[in-house]
Amino acid sequence: MERLLKGIKVFVTAGPTREYLDPVRYISNESSGKMGYAIAEVLFTLGADVTLISGPVAIKSELPAKNIIQVVTANEMLEACKQLFDKVRVAIFCAAVADFRPRHISENKIKKSEQVSVVEFVKNTDIAFEFGKSKTEKQISIGFALETNNILQNASVKLKAKKFDAVVINSPKKDEGFGYDTNRVSILRKDGTIKNFPLKSKIEVAKDIVSELEEIF
Ligand code: C5P
Repeated sequence: MERLLKGIKVFVTAGPTREYLDPVRYISNESSGKMGYAIAEVLFTLGADVTLISGPVAIKSELPAKNIIQVVTANEMLEACKQLFDKVRVAIFCAAVADFRPRHISENKIKKSEQVSVVEFVKNTDIAFEFGKSKTEKQISIGFALETNNILQNASVKLKAKKFDAVVINSPKKDEGFGYDTNRVSILRKDGTIKNFPLKSKIEVAKDIVSELEEIF
């Protein structure tokens, strides 16, 4: 199996993004980046040529610094990914990209005395969707779906819209995702097959996801 991914160019997105309201305040989410970092590390161990595109996280990576691109906002993540869109064979979209950003970023810190009753938001570009638009026959992409209801149906819609070859479904339940060291996932493939995995450490889940990738290859 080791030879299969050796030298293969891959990018993995990981972590949250921050969307600023002013120079010191932002909206973000609970993503720890652990899942994406684990996937990038497993791929690296197998000899893949990995670039990890990471939002701000508190964890350290085993990857060499030259394999990591640090970004902050969704737009920065988009720009970093775009540079690699036509260069990679595989793209793994693990980041919890903020769906919206404030329309205006105040140049100065917003004062307590100011009346801010409404913040207007605009939609961020969906990076995985953009990749899907330019994706070639040879390229493989895997996405994530955090679902609470109509799980299979919603994940399937996402898979088709973003042209994923497989989608990793997880839930926001305790121990099973955001911020935790463990994850319970199901993997839905483009051909409609689904595999359900038990609760495992994120490194073990990363190995399962990479095994799926090797099967798709
Ligand atoms: O539609 P939803 O945000 O649930 O889709 C999740 C999948 O899409 C994940 O793989 C996530 O990394 C990716 N995504 C993205 N860019 C966005 C939003 C989501 O790449 N702006």
